[in-house]
Amino acid sequence: MRGLDYARAGSPEQAIRGHAHSGATAYLAGGTTLLDLVKLDVMQPNQVIDVNHLAGLNQVQAQPDGRLSVGAMVTNTTLAHHPLVLEHYPVLSQALLSGATTQLRNKATTAGNVMQRVRCNYFRDGVSPCNKRNPGSGCAAIGGHNRSVHAVLGTSDQCIATHPSDMCVAMVALGATVQVQGPAGKREINFADFHLLPGSTPWKEHALQPDELITHVVLDAPLPNSRSAYLKLRDRASYQFALASSAVVLVMDGQTIRDVRIALGGVGTKPWRALEAERALKGAQATQANLAKAAKLAMQGAVAQSMNGYKIPLGQQVTLRTLSNLALGELHTGARA
Ligand code: SF4
Repeated sequence: MRGLDYARAGSPEQAIRGHAHSGATAYLAGGTTLLDLVKLDVMQPNQVIDVNHLAGLNQVQAQPDGRLSVGAMVTNTTLAHHPLVLEHYPVLSQALLSGATTQLRNKATTAGNVMQRVRCNYFRDGVSPCNKRNPGSGCAAIGGHNRSVHAVLGTSDQCIATHPSDMCVAMVALGATVQVQGPAGKREINFADFHLLPGSTPWKEHALQPDELITHVVLDAPLPNSRSAYLKLRDRASYQFALASSAVVLVMDGQTIRDVRIALGGVGTKPWRALEAERALKGAQATQANLAKAAKLAMQGAVAQSMNGYKIPLGQQVTLRTLSNLALGELHTGARA
């Protein structure tokens, strides 16, 4: 591991100024991704700016308009167990508790979770061809070992890595806004637009401008009378990334689906909102046939890689299971940690 400078920021403005003054600086929050990648020499900052102590960024606050503001430094553990999240956004609590381990969740922050890097082994080994780490070098995962952390939705001929977050899948289903601050001031980014498809520029992973800092993620007001759940399928029951996962928010009116939000994880290159599936279900009867049709639509356009074709039926099944649990009464009680 190479040496680097450490600075602790006292305010967002100070952090942003410090970031802007060096070409190779990284913001340090929980460090659960950054420090791993620095040790692996995949990320090579000359300086880290510790943003853990910025005032006002470690709170969860209800807004007058019904939304919920989550400070960037709120830990995954705090957010998962917050009473307002448990009451109004159970899908988010379940998604958070399905991620990583207790120790990691105690350190990992909301903004850090949004900003986490891919788990592709070729990206992390530091030497294989990887367009994300070394633009123009190729993609060792295409035709390589791509069974578990590689996508079938949103891929390109440049990169096929999945976005690894569980939390972000719940957030894209719930609807949210990312509030950021940078040298030019403050602005907001729709959560659904925050993560970018790899396309021909897989090294561009998000919509942040240089030196910008996430200060808050603001969740949309909960849908009235909604129920929600997150279901995650993985190779082992704990400390493992999703092979396929599904976040569903549902509003029923008798047997009719009044409103629905569906998002998938483990199958897409970004947290994947299944808008076609939602459209097919709004106003429909909650029958197994309709739910199964929507689950198929959720994986519409999927393209299998050499080892991960099983993710297409798996994504359909996890979506169908989550929809059925919520719509037909077998409520999923939460993910194991
Ligand atoms: Fe790199 Fe993406 Fe290919 Fe993995 S899938 S080797 S991250 S370009």
